[in-house]
Amino acid sequence: MDVEKVIIIGSGPAGYTAAVYCARAEMAPLLFEGQQLGGQPGGQLMLTTEVDNFPGFPEGLMGPEMMEKFKAQAVRFQTRIESKDITRVDFSKRPFKVWAGETEYQAQSVIICTGAQAMWLNVPGEEKYQGHGVSACATCDGFFFRDKNIVVVGGGDSAMEEANFLTKFASKVTIMHRREELRASKIMQKRSMDNPKIEFLWNTSVTEVMGDGEKMTGLKIKNTKTGEEEEFRADGLFLAIGHKPNTGIFKGQVDLDEAGYLLVKPGSSLTSVEGVFAGGDVADHVYRQAITAAGTGCMAALDTERWLAGQE
Ligand code: NAP
Repeated sequence: MDVEKVIIIGSGPAGYTAAVYCARAEMAPLLFEGQQLGGQPGGQLMLTTEVDNFPGFPEGLMGPEMMEKFKAQAVRFQTRIESKDITRVDFSKRPFKVWAGETEYQAQSVIICTGAQAMWLNVPGEEKYQGHGVSACATCDGFFFRDKNIVVVGGGDSAMEEANFLTKFASKVTIMHRREELRASKIMQKRSMDNPKIEFLWNTSVTEVMGDGEKMTGLKIKNTKTGEEEEFRADGLFLAIGHKPNTGIFKGQVDLDEAGYLLVKPGSSLTSVEGVFAGGDVADHVYRQAITAAGTGCMAALDTERWLAGQE
């Protein structure tokens, strides 16, 4: 069996950036683009509409279009792309082994860029209006909600942070929380409570996203104590109920933190297994931006190149 120099798992900004750097360093990378998001590789940007904060695109561009460009650039330098989910890995000895179903692949090094997923409510209408009112990233989409009425769901630090950020654009932000006590730190709570544009709706859960077929127009909400239901008019729904890293297949193979994110040596892409590197949101629960994912994907490629050179 051929032993690849490097296998890259994941096809978001981190994976493709790692591929461009590895390919240009003549490492002939083999990249696996996963099919998790409804058969769509490309990571979370596939669920975004306009991306305005990636430097170099002054007019902005749509998330899926951006991922096509990332991919085209990786292919231009002869990255080989397999449209398969990696379902199992064995990092216990080298060469490393990864499997897509029954098919085994071997590599001297592996770069993990499998990303993370925002948690969704899984209520009717939510998926239909994603990118058309429903979002899980205020930094990405908040700008499109100038003078709009927005709802943020969640009671943690992310919800407070997103709500405060959204008041830059929105006329009003309502934080809906399923309990009457916030999980967020006191300082973040205070910042939200002191913000005149933010209101709280306690003991409230969203049961449906309503829309006119094109965009979201409101929500069906339910009081978690009384069970009472009503409709709530809103132009936007931002979910801040946590993220989940895509690390299920790496459990027991490489060190993860308690939330399941890959642990990397600070300031590098080195995981706990020598020869296995990580880039993008799979190892980052703080920044979570396309540009930071691309940056850490680049770091992973450079670290891999240096490590492989050291092996030779
Ligand atoms: P989190 O702390 O886990 O909070 C998630 C919130 O969403 C909780 O309030 C939870 O409600 C709610 N929730 C979960 N599932 C829900 C569902 N199905 N329906 C309705 N509500 C649901 O997540 P996070 O806010 O993303 O923060 C993650 C970590 O990053 C934390 O450690 C946080 O401190 C950190 N963080 C820090 C900063 C900062 O310091 N600037 C900013 C962002 C995040 P319950 O409370 O009822 O469980």
